[in-house]
Amino acid sequence: MLLTILGCGASSRPFDTIFVVTIDTLRADHLGCYGYPRPVSPFIDSMAARGVRFERVVSSSSHTGPAHASLFTSHHPASHRVLVNGVDLQDGIPTMAGLLAAADFETAAFLSVDFLRSVTHGFDVVDADTRGERGHRRAESTVDAALEWLAGREIPRRAFVWVHLFDVHQTQRRHRVARPGLEARMEEDAKERAAILQPHWTQQHGLTAARLRRLLARINRYDAQLSYVDAELRRLVETADAGGRRNLWIVTSDHGEGLGDHGYPGHGKYLYQAQLEVPLIFYGGDGWPPGAAVDDMVRHVDVLPTVLELAGVAPPSDAGFEGRSLVRLLESPSAAAGVRYAFSQRRPPNRPRLDAGWPPGLVIAAQSERYKYILSTDREDEFYDLEADPRELNNLIGEEIAAKDELLRWMLRKYEAMAANPLAPGGEIEEEYLEELKALGYL
Ligand SMILES: [Zn+2]
Repeated sequence: MLLTILGCGASSRPFDTIFVVTIDTLRADHLGCYGYPRPVSPFIDSMAARGVRFERVVSSSSHTGPAHASLFTSHHPASHRVLVNGVDLQDGIPTMAGLLAAADFETAAFLSVDFLRSVTHGFDVVDADTRGERGHRRAESTVDAALEWLAGREIPRRAFVWVHLFDVHQTQRRHRVARPGLEARMEEDAKERAAILQPHWTQQHGLTAARLRRLLARINRYDAQLSYVDAELRRLVETADAGGRRNLWIVTSDHGEGLGDHGYPGHGKYLYQAQLEVPLIFYGGDGWPPGAAVDDMVRHVDVLPTVLELAGVAPPSDAGFEGRSLVRLLESPSAAAGVRYAFSQRRPPNRPRLDAGWPPGLVIAAQSERYKYILSTDREDEFYDLEADPRELNNLIGEEIAAKDELLRWMLRKYEAMAANPLAPGGEIEEEYLEELKALGYL
């Protein structure tokens, strides 16, 4: 593998530390900066206002392990073969941490679940001490661990840090809400929301009133967890940026959450936009990149090439990344340099999920700026005009639309090429993660 250090080229930036923060299960449209009406993310919103916010970002998967593996390798699940949580990313596939470590970055990962160690290839330090915290580590402990490590660094080497926060995933449980009065406001808001949403949901999804009430309670818990994570992220960023350190922050999520869309509260089962659209914000404490929003569609797989260009590290000549650098869009957000198509793949369901009514077989999706095709081997395909129907309620699969065949052809070519020639054989779930995955309800 050929690896060249470019030095400070035109696009590389003199950052001390590049941070990637993944807020697990955070759908983009629950952030104020993406249009959410509740004030649950004031700090993330302020980062977006001062940095660059990508409006439409597509994840490669609606499942934690595969989505993170794609973010860090710039390959889709059919290529890197991390198809479900707990499967180890295979050695030999270049990763963000590995490529930066080879360019003399110190690399450290702070995780809130243990099983994500399966995608930490290339990190010098992996801190995933979730003992005694009932299945996952809360944001405050993960942030403490990251800050402690940052404070203890002696050599002024450049660093790459991944911080993974899991609280938004845990909507079954109520943790703390960091902002006084918020919960009371949410209760009020929930009543309003119920009045607006009840007819819609009852009509679209056939929900009973009791089920709808449970769903609204879940959304309240989701927003409360997000508010807590937002406050912890503020503490992390403000502490790490103190003293004039030049840090770059990349804030995203691995996948979204149904929260009732298509009658489904979770993720993993489907590839609707509620599960696939994630936030992506680049924020630099030194004023670069400048405040702007990018409308063009981009993908998770574009993040790795972007980070390498910013770090002045050339990708290996044989990397074959799926994504491409977004630096041009960071520097001129209206450059119309988005991507044409985005590809996503659903995790294969296991027996308990099939028993719970998940559609069997392969489910893959491709989307363009306007259209989306979802192919399912075991049920009717779906085709949506996302511009006219962003909630994907009106399946146009039977209509004559030229873009439909074009999107299907592209998706099949893409999938068949990946499936025929994967980067790794793929493996079984590692035994060491079984207990935690069980405790988190994955198995
Ligand atoms: Zn996840």
